[in-house]
Amino acid sequence: MCGIVGYIGSREAYPILVKGLKRLEYRGYDSAGVALISNADQQLNVYKAKGKVSELESFVESKDISGKIGIAHTRWATHGEPCSANAHPHYSSSETLALIHNGIIENYAVLKENLQAKGYEFKSSTDTEVLVQLIEYIKVTNNLDLLTAVQLALQEVIGAYAIAVVEKDHPEQIIAARKSSPLVVGIGEDEYFLASDATPIVEYTDKVVYLNDEEIAVINRGEELKIVDLHNVEITPDVKTVVMNIGQLEKGGYPHFMLKEIFEQPDCILDCMRGRVNVEGTNVVLSAVIDHKERLIKAKRFVIVACGTSWHAALIGKHLIESFCRIPVEVEYASEFRYRDPVIDEQDVVLAISQSGETADTLAAVELAKSRGAFIYGICNAIGSSIPRATNTGSYIHVGPEIGVASTKAFTGQVTVLTMLALTLAKEKNTISEKEYLEIVQELNHIPEKMKQVLELNKQIAELSKIFTYAHNFIYLGRGYSYPVALEGALKLKEISYIHAEGYPAAEMKHGPIALIDAEMPVVVIATHNGLYEKVLSNIQEIKARKGKVIAIVSEGDTIIKNIADICIELPTTLECLDPLITTVPLQMLAYHIAVCKGMDVDQPRNLAKSVTVE
Ligand code: GLU
Repeated sequence: MCGIVGYIGSREAYPILVKGLKRLEYRGYDSAGVALISNADQQLNVYKAKGKVSELESFVESKDISGKIGIAHTRWATHGEPCSANAHPHYSSSETLALIHNGIIENYAVLKENLQAKGYEFKSSTDTEVLVQLIEYIKVTNNLDLLTAVQLALQEVIGAYAIAVVEKDHPEQIIAARKSSPLVVGIGEDEYFLASDATPIVEYTDKVVYLNDEEIAVINRGEELKIVDLHNVEITPDVKTVVMNIGQLEKGGYPHFMLKEIFEQPDCILDCMRGRVNVEGTNVVLSAVIDHKERLIKAKRFVIVACGTSWHAALIGKHLIESFCRIPVEVEYASEFRYRDPVIDEQDVVLAISQSGETADTLAAVELAKSRGAFIYGICNAIGSSIPRATNTGSYIHVGPEIGVASTKAFTGQVTVLTMLALTLAKEKNTISEKEYLEIVQELNHIPEKMKQVLELNKQIAELSKIFTYAHNFIYLGRGYSYPVALEGALKLKEISYIHAEGYPAAEMKHGPIALIDAEMPVVVIATHNGLYEKVLSNIQEIKARKGKVIAIVSEGDTIIKNIADICIELPTTLECLDPLITTVPLQMLAYHIAVCKGMDVDQPRNLAKSVTVE
């Protein structure tokens, strides 16, 4: 993961770099660093600190942070523990080059051995330092300019990288390159910005260039942006305009991004459906489905590849597409799929779901499926990111930037897109009755309002969360559409409160997990008034018979479960297939408030980072 920022222009770089790092902190926050070429004496100053960007700010307090060119990094360690020595930027041996990197240099060990044999010494245990030393070695031994040395070095590298390099004696130039890790160049008035995504750039310019794999940006002060490949073939920059509201990148009065994003969901779902579901509730059109309907309809099967929360959305997508379109759907962890030589061919449609559009495993799964001739459909949030660019077609979820590391609004956005996809395709395929179709489309329009009603329970959920601050384990149960919601609820709790939690299909409990139930075990059961209500009711009885503490998520007006469960959270009713859009929300709030009660860092939980751009 890691966040990369760079600046070159006529302003002081440091404030821009630090502000950018803070925007990117969701990508990693175990250490941070900055390299600046100073104004007065052209020193290449590198400052690094363990911990968050605020630690770096304290560290540089009495240092020379002048410079109109600089690069900065916030790290999520892959190789080498989080410490100041392993933080980026890394100097080359002569300290004339400084480099930041997002990704993994897979053949670093061999390269390092070769360099050590030539007398190079290493100060860190990262894979990254090998790259800056290799660039220096190639540059010095062949007397080359920085660009050529970077091109040659990258030809020797196996793995993933987004890098930026600066050179002490060339304060007019940043060289940046990417392969499998994201990198965006922002074009301002006589100034350039560089970042892992557009969020640090949007307040300065809306003109950006997303680098493609094996492209190198040669960013020279006062000159046009030049892009070349590893063999110096020039590529015309594809300048795009980004539309992003700065307010979306701030907390807007909420104590955490996660809570803000939970509360944004009614508006996000409206944005997601805008122009797709008509206000009369008679029609839903996902244009990508219509444009490619022949290809989608003749698919032998759909395979959904995803990771983490997106994988849970995929399980709901399977249920929706199989029910309404009568197409078999398989759901795969992208990380397993990519290394399994899966049976996949040109008759398959692969749906790739990723909030960031940069998830390394999902991107690799897309490339693999593409190479086998499958038709690829992306469902992403970040506009212009790598997965949408690698797919045949797709639909954005349009929920705005998600900063909280624990995904909330992206999940409900993904489920909304999957619902619209299933409905659009089912209508084209004629596998849904007019009556059912209209019923669902109409109800979709009511979802944002019903989500608002759920959000009104925030106080109640905050209150009851206090009881569970000291819980060590949780079980989440659901059936049908609610089973993936149970998985997602458990994941949210694990991610931000560090309480061990497992999600199970409610009926599976008796095949093992029931052994865990005792008076200490809180069990969250999604038991809304839908198809399998009676069955779930029996499952609740089984838990109570073993003295488990039941927190039931029920439909408004439920009287039966109220008499059995320890705690009931009542939700507005909706159609069974839309239930996840409602039932997920209280589970997000429950996880949030338990974590807050425990004093955890909700937006930046330990060991995690938001977009997993490494394997
Ligand atoms: N491999 C580099 C390191 O450990 C960068 C990690 C990353 O991009 O997540 O420092």
